[in-house]
Amino acid sequence: MSNLSSPHFHNEEAAYAYVEARVWPQGPVCPHCGGYERIGKMGGKSTRIGVHKCYQCRKPFTVKVGTIFEASHVPLRHWLQAMYLMASSKKGVSANQLHRTLGCTLKTAWFLAHRIREAMATGALSPFGGNGTAVEADETFIGREPGVPMPKGGIGHKMKVLALLDRETGRVASFVLENMQVSTIAQIVNANVAREARLMTDEAYHYAKIGEGFAEHGAVKHKADEYVSRADPTVHSNTVEGVFSIFKRGMKGVYQHCGKKHLHRYLAEFDFRYSNRVGLGVNDTARADILLTGVVGKRLTYRTAGKQA
Ligand SMILES: [Zn+2]
Repeated sequence: MSNLSSPHFHNEEAAYAYVEARVWPQGPVCPHCGGYERIGKMGGKSTRIGVHKCYQCRKPFTVKVGTIFEASHVPLRHWLQAMYLMASSKKGVSANQLHRTLGCTLKTAWFLAHRIREAMATGALSPFGGNGTAVEADETFIGREPGVPMPKGGIGHKMKVLALLDRETGRVASFVLENMQVSTIAQIVNANVAREARLMTDEAYHYAKIGEGFAEHGAVKHKADEYVSRADPTVHSNTVEGVFSIFKRGMKGVYQHCGKKHLHRYLAEFDFRYSNRVGLGVNDTARADILLTGVVGKRLTYRTAGKQA
């Protein structure tokens, strides 16, 4: 049986039941007053699917309230199809592909995809390298920085991305950099990497200073053709460079163009898939389920998303 033949992808009631079981693992919770003790499920032919009533504050609600699904007219089963596709496609899924697969407008597909990226954003993680393990840090450059003229050479006109990778847990976290100043990079590294970590970087000069704040700092000399330290083979930043290469292939092959205001969302999408990859024991269905737990509290309003999907 195909994973896509599951009832929650095709039947709206099954879709609600599937989402409810994951968003409310302990049973329904009222989004208006936080109550969970006296909640009834509304039935009857004239009632919309999934409507519950809280008898503490007397307000009705569905599982969509307060999530990325709120105020969307797209059937929940189509949301689940889109989430499965985005969670399982290594290089991402274009809005055009979603539009054709789901049979919705291109505009709706675009908003759906951005809301799903919001659900992929993990927010504050516990610091990487917390048990004294290796954390790789590196930067990459992509696309065009808005308002910066194209120089003859160099990377000044490109958008800058910093990624941190915890080699122990296999998780990655990427950040859009406003500039390449030591203070900018230090702020992100210090906020997300534990003091006791072994920091692994290339020889970039900003890491000499930043590295002093950690239990150990290993740096390879890429300019001298050194990609793994000859003295200590655990000193390298090759894993995080592999992450950049997946990101760049996806951005080039699937998304093509990405403005700076959306870059953090695409990074969240690639970080999410990488941090929940098959190599870490997470299959496609499990990954889509993890994504579903991220929908809460990520409601995009008209103001943040632009329009209603
Ligand atoms: Zn209530």
